[in-house]
Amino acid sequence: MLRFLFPLLLSLAALTAAEPRPLIIAHRGASGYLPEHTLAAKALAYGQGADYLEQDVVLSKDGVPVIFHDTHIDTTTDVAKKFPGHQRADGRFYALDFTVAELKQLNVTERFNPKTGKAAFPRRFPVGVGSFSVVTLEEEIQFIQQLNRSTGRSVGIYPELKAPAWHHKEGRDLAGTVLPILRRYGYDAKDAACFVQCFELAEIKRLRGELAWKGKLIMLLGGKGQGPGDTDFTYLQTDAGLADLAKLVDGIGPPISSVVTGKSPAERKVTDLAARAHKVGLASHPYTLRADELPKCVTSVDELLRVLFDEAKVDGLFTDFPDLCKR
Ligand code: CA
Repeated sequence: MLRFLFPLLLSLAALTAAEPRPLIIAHRGASGYLPEHTLAAKALAYGQGADYLEQDVVLSKDGVPVIFHDTHIDTTTDVAKKFPGHQRADGRFYALDFTVAELKQLNVTERFNPKTGKAAFPRRFPVGVGSFSVVTLEEEIQFIQQLNRSTGRSVGIYPELKAPAWHHKEGRDLAGTVLPILRRYGYDAKDAACFVQCFELAEIKRLRGELAWKGKLIMLLGGKGQGPGDTDFTYLQTDAGLADLAKLVDGIGPPISSVVTGKSPAERKVTDLAARAHKVGLASHPYTLRADELPKCVTSVDELLRVLFDEAKVDGLFTDFPDLCKR
């Protein structure tokens, strides 16, 4: 009897241990409602049922991984007011030019255009309102792991290595600094709740080679054309390119516009990208569902979800609005 029961129990255990599909990935937190990459936005996304919370990672002057979407920090903080004169020749303020102690003096705010002061998304949280701090990668990991302990859930992290080639040019090693931290918190394994993502193929290769990363990896794709360095997004989306990627990564992160196209619902077409990726064993996690910036080929969030989940059969989705996707 046990001989028959045991495999059944094993497969049941595997089923319950398996991750939900499709995965809801909170893009910069619940950034549709609160300033991106604040712990408040991450807590809200956690409460809204996201399966993974995204971190964009850059380095500070003293070599600490900090959570910012861009290498420059003047679109989401009051750095121009607090540190006048600390900009580079291009007029921008960079995380890399400030220590963590200095970054901690900044107030994080809703994304705005530093030239006009206007909000990037006018219907979202108001610019300049609230009191939010810059977060280090390690603080955010501790925050999520503590929430997992207190709720019994196992929400994952989804760190993106931002502009590694630019960091190298500045004499810094972003991946070489981030990976030891991820290892220390138990994320360097295929079954760990962590996807590391990057737009740069050379760095993805380095992660799997020189840096011996064993955890899950996602190659981000920036539509068609030439990407950073030797990254050729057009080639990577061919069958041969996807087969090459399958030797390196666990999935691709294409823009939604590479998965579903059309200038109107009548002209809507689901491309074969996700299906071809599946054929070589790659998951697809497209970016980014925004309720206030829907593609022209759909008229509602629900319509887009139906197309992506039921027709394109994607395995995960980046969204600024986790609640609307998790329903
Ligand atoms: Ca990102």
